[in-house]
Amino acid sequence: MTEYLKEINQGISDISTWLPVDRTPWVIAGPCSAESQQQVLDTARGVARCPNVKVFRAGLWKPRTRPNTFEGVGRVGLKWLKAVQQETGLPTTTEVANAKHVELCLKNNIDILWIGARTTVNSFLVQEIADALQGTDVPILIKNPINAELGLWIGAIERLYGAGVRKLAGIHRGFSTYSETEYRNQPNWQIPIELKRLIPRLPLICDPSHIAGNRQLIERLSQMALDFGLHGLMIETHIDPDNALSDARQQITPDALLQLLERLHARSAAITNTPVQTRMAQLRACIDQVDSRLLRDLAERMKWVEEIGRLKKQHDIPVLQIDRWEDLLADHVSRGLQAGLDGGFVKAIFEIIHTQAVKQQL
Ligand code: PEP
Ligand code: MN
Repeated sequence: MTEYLKEINQGISDISTWLPVDRTPWVIAGPCSAESQQQVLDTARGVARCPNVKVFRAGLWKPRTRPNTFEGVGRVGLKWLKAVQQETGLPTTTEVANAKHVELCLKNNIDILWIGARTTVNSFLVQEIADALQGTDVPILIKNPINAELGLWIGAIERLYGAGVRKLAGIHRGFSTYSETEYRNQPNWQIPIELKRLIPRLPLICDPSHIAGNRQLIERLSQMALDFGLHGLMIETHIDPDNALSDARQQITPDALLQLLERLHARSAAITNTPVQTRMAQLRACIDQVDSRLLRDLAERMKWVEEIGRLKKQHDIPVLQIDRWEDLLADHVSRGLQAGLDGGFVKAIFEIIHTQAVKQQL
């Protein structure tokens, strides 16, 4: 650990000094974007029923990949967040991407600010935000950068700390990849784990919504985060997710959030803190990642099988060509052996795959 990281680790405030996190998981819930006062308040009323929810989130300025999409309601939403504070008592948080956003949020008493993944990558913007925060006491949550580079994440933490911010936390929201995967953003758990090793006192929050990109995976990712010893979750929650103006596929209703949280299993701190438990969760995550790749590759293989099946049919070629099959099997078994796999295991797998491929062409 470098000296500066050691200093940061000692200097950051304990989360309990700025948020009453009396249960695990504790949750930041609310819509991806504030859309209308009604939508914000209805969602807030829904999530406030859940004792795990400690903060209400809603994006006012939305970083969007393409222009001419909904880019947030902007400053008009600040008073909707004030209404949430007044009615539910929940502290509120929104994303800031420049000094102007910071200034407006501070003027309107937004309780907590977060820096988005597209901003963490940009040292000019992070520094501008840090400068705007000099002398203030507002807690800052820093999302990981879009690309899988721990240094950028740490750099942003250092800039904020350097500006005197002590109420800090990180948000793990996954990392962008070019290839199509089951996740919108790859979790790459080794990165938040390494951050936890380097700055153990920095609270780490997991944002399963942006990792998943779809509602189905949120629960599994939330459980994984708990298994890794992360205690906070940021879950996008919307009163009418299907009609959300941004990130519709990954938002859930307040009722679904309540049910999901009931199903999660938080391990006792004593178990979670053992390195063995963390290592187990890390290894499971690696296996999970490989399994999804295997499934995707199998699906792709079957697509090509179907295509070759059509070609054989068109040209009256028999489905099963025993020579080709024998060559393929021998080749795969020998390549499997070279890769350190058991020959019988490789043979058994390809026999199953081949049987299915033949069936699919009939
Ligand atoms: C968000 O939280 O809605 C958001 C834009 O997040 P990220 O910066 O993680 O993409
Ligand atoms: Mn979002």
